[in-house]
Amino acid sequence: MPPPIPRFLKLALDTPLDIEFDYRWQPQWADDSPPRIGQLAQVPFGRRQVVGLIVAIHESSDHAAEKIRDITAIRHQLPPLSSHWMALSRFAADYYQRPLGEVALPCLPKNLRALKSTALDTALKKTAATPQTANSTATLGPELNADQKAAVDAISAASDYSVTLLFGVTGSGKTEVYLRSAEKVLEREKQQGIHAQVLMLVPEINLTPQLENSVRARFPGMNVVSLHSQLSEGERTRSWLSAHLGHASIVLGTRLSVLASMPNLKLIIVDEEHDPSYKQQEGLRYSARDLAIWRARDLNIPIVIGSATPSMESWHHAESGRYRKLVLAQRAATQAVLPNISLIDMERIKATEGLSPPLVAALRERLARGEQSLLFLNRRGYAPVVHCDACGWISNCQRCTAFMVLHKPEKRLRCHHCSLELKIPSSCPTCGNVDLQPLGRGTQRIEEHLQVLFPEARVLRIDADSTRKKGSAQAAFATVHRGEVDILLGTQMVAKGHDFQRLTLVGVINPDTALFSHDYRAGERLFAQLMQVAGRAGRAARMSQSEVMVQTRYAQHPLYRALLAHDFPGFAAATLEERRSAGLPPFVFQAMLRAESTTLTKALEFLQQARELLPHPGIVINDPVPVAMTRVANVERAQLLLESPARGALQSFLKLWVQELRKQPARLRWTLEVDPIDI
Ligand code: ADP
Ligand code: ZN
Ligand code: ZN
Repeated sequence: MPPPIPRFLKLALDTPLDIEFDYRWQPQWADDSPPRIGQLAQVPFGRRQVVGLIVAIHESSDHAAEKIRDITAIRHQLPPLSSHWMALSRFAADYYQRPLGEVALPCLPKNLRALKSTALDTALKKTAATPQTANSTATLGPELNADQKAAVDAISAASDYSVTLLFGVTGSGKTEVYLRSAEKVLEREKQQGIHAQVLMLVPEINLTPQLENSVRARFPGMNVVSLHSQLSEGERTRSWLSAHLGHASIVLGTRLSVLASMPNLKLIIVDEEHDPSYKQQEGLRYSARDLAIWRARDLNIPIVIGSATPSMESWHHAESGRYRKLVLAQRAATQAVLPNISLIDMERIKATEGLSPPLVAALRERLARGEQSLLFLNRRGYAPVVHCDACGWISNCQRCTAFMVLHKPEKRLRCHHCSLELKIPSSCPTCGNVDLQPLGRGTQRIEEHLQVLFPEARVLRIDADSTRKKGSAQAAFATVHRGEVDILLGTQMVAKGHDFQRLTLVGVINPDTALFSHDYRAGERLFAQLMQVAGRAGRAARMSQSEVMVQTRYAQHPLYRALLAHDFPGFAAATLEERRSAGLPPFVFQAMLRAESTTLTKALEFLQQARELLPHPGIVINDPVPVAMTRVANVERAQLLLESPARGALQSFLKLWVQELRKQPARLRWTLEVDPIDI
């Protein structure tokens, strides 16, 4: 036998260096299997050993042979990641301007990247031991209405790439359409002898167990796995392997699961496609919805994105014919009708402790009838600020451009932006006045007032403070579902997804601040949030017509007028028109460079230099400015916005620019975000 030729491998490693690293493989034994692209391998890196991903194999190397180190071991027990998966991570890395290794490796479960492969081996054994898929006939769901049926037929008719925007009012039965389409696609592929896979993305972690149960119940005997950040490492490894080995038929997951390896993926579903939680806000700042669409196109498979309030990007594509729009116009459950929405004009009506007389009367009626009410106030704590009338002292955070929030039950002032916590001062720190005033209202203060107003009512508050313990949010929602709550009060946590059967009144307290935000997306978000929370009411057939009451000082505002009419298309048309004339996304493409430093001057100087680093024809680079909340935890932050009408031009520029930025001496921390959602 001729001596085997050593092979030269390029590996992606989880380091901030944007290079692929060269290693050599030579067989120790004659029957050693050669490495393959997409496999994981353990290699020496400096003085450490790390696990990397094999991205290329060559017969020779440009580097001097004595400089190249040998790889330590190949994880042969794990089948290689597919070329499509590699292409997806490479696209994500390129598009969001990060090194491939920083994208591809962190999205694999830790057990795969561990130096000891015992956990991986155990998980592989367990996964292999679970039966693939039994003959899985789905249990019967409700009979589809005409709109739903048309949607399912359209979605499952073709097997090649198309994007469908499923625009359905809250309660219109979108989930049913997803499940039925998944079922049809799996069935169709089975006829071809293919054990196909479906990926379903959902936004919030607290939706997953609810949805998971209903999906499992619908497809008994089918392998359904979930992937989200709350899983233990063992669970996550098993779910991931089950998807990677092609066993799992349905993968339900939050944004990170868009990067799950699924060799037989035939359909992707993105529920609540507009939800901001699809955008990762640190590290690789990717949009899971956008990556999902790229993935579908690369695989030439259909993708469905659904929402009652689609993002302006998706709506624009649907209106211009790039996406197919399917509409579910009515609520699915018989007799469940959309609630009546009314505005309470707070310029004219006087409120007591934040609650107007009409809203209080409506609450009283629900209590008398034994129905549930929901009050939505997107502000936790007791009062957003404490104030001294005598000298004007105000509870600023010492470390942030923000107020310390009064938390009465916890007897603390808390900053919601850094970890700072203080005892509530018994007197004014500046003048000694003992009569400090809470200003404004949070959920705790409304809760206190509700208990005074309705001592006999069962009031439950659900917000980040009341649900700190693991599992407590689940438990709280279960209490509501069991009917043990009369008035549910909460922040955006209560706005989403939940199907409360006895709820006939929704009250919205003080939503107006978003109307005047510096962030051009605030209106879009507020509209989506109000539609969502309004959508909690009247989901089942009830005796009384359900109602949504919005307390506002701006009753004539176009956003509220559109809300009254349940008119998302009208709202979207007006919003898109504004964006077009103001030159905002989706009509331009943006990227944001942010810098952090001990002083604002340093951060601004860095950005100014970055701005002048390269010529940039076709790209507008705005002036560096402080971030709206300039200081957080004693770090000053500034930002530089880049804009271009051409995505390609922006991408090409960013690639060169980031290379230059990386060469600069590391004076401060900077991050680049492509398609930023917080401006
Ligand atoms: P969406 O996600 O569009 O807000 P859901 O999928 O949660 O709506 O459906 C709302 C309710 O309607 C659920 O309780 C669901 O079981 C029910 N439902 C869905 N489709 C039908 C149907 N065809 N007939 C009767 N009830 C249905
Ligand atoms: Zn004072
Ligand atoms: Zn702070």
